Amino acid sequence: MTFPVFDLHCDLLSYLIKYPKADPFNTEKIACAVPFLQQGNVKVQVCAIYTDVRSESMQLGLGQAELFSDLVRKYPETFYSYQPDSDLKEPKIGIFAAIENAAGIGNEEAKWSEIYRQFDLILEKVGQLAYISLTHHTENRFGGGNYTEGIGLKDDGKKLLEYMSGKKIPIDLSHTSDLLAEGIFNHISSQNLKIPVIASHSNYRAIWNHKRNLSDEFAQEIVRQEGIIGVNFLRAFLDNDVPERLFEHILHGFEIGGEKAQCFGADFFFTKDFPDKNRHPFYFPLTENASKYPSILEELNKNLTEYQLQNLASENAFHFYHKLHR
Ligand SMILES: [Zn+2]
Repeated sequence: MTFPVFDLHCDLLSYLIKYPKADPFNTEKIACAVPFLQQGNVKVQVCAIYTDVRSESMQLGLGQAELFSDLVRKYPETFYSYQPDSDLKEPKIGIFAAIENAAGIGNEEAKWSEIYRQFDLILEKVGQLAYISLTHHTENRFGGGNYTEGIGLKDDGKKLLEYMSGKKIPIDLSHTSDLLAEGIFNHISSQNLKIPVIASHSNYRAIWNHKRNLSDEFAQEIVRQEGIIGVNFLRAFLDNDVPERLFEHILHGFEIGGEKAQCFGADFFFTKDFPDKNRHPFYFPLTENASKYPSILEELNKNLTEYQLQNLASENAFHFYHKLHR
């Protein structure tokens, strides 16, 4: 089943900034290497600007925004910068930047004038942003991450949301604590902010109970607000032992009303230097690299119509971003 694919999350940029000689074409190194993306018929790949919470996070953020434009400049036959309001440039791959952890916009010490300047500078370098997530696993000045239960939306998080409003940039709930997700929904509605809410690379707690996965309550609220949700391919978030749980997560997304929300958000990153050995292997063979989308869609053809498969593979994401940038 070959459908065009729009994937909502990979960490190619953080790999490239850590290993400046790394080759985005090398399939031995990263599961979203270009040949895999081509085999998987990936038409748009969101590339996250990722950083953890540390004093150099703003340099790392800006460095990855520069690497994003370098990819287009160095490999003009392969990549172009995806514009939601323009046609695709097939057979090239459209890359679309996103920010995973607002530490890349503002470290813990930065003044607000510096944060606004960094925000504008990154946006200028990458053109558009597919989304911003305020946090990653840990806490920062904006709020609480996945593993910091009890820490919600802070005043700086509110201020950043207010700056995002009306700029056609979604907020991503994939790395929030539950309290932060709740705070984001509340602040957007109480202040009437124009910010769509998505979960770029998250599965469902109803299928696999993990802090990185979404409760049905949050997933349904995203669906109700016409946001999108990308299914994550990592073993830890699917089910440690059962690869086929992937299909249950996707079908659950459809069942909770997300037929027009469910997308892919594979989450391929450089795993070779990851310290926690319990996480190995990171991916089941079923989802081990970006060439696997056609076989995954083939398997889902037992449960979903061709129209539904097409929506899942890319149409839901295309529709979401077209509407936002119209
Ligand atoms: Zn992530």
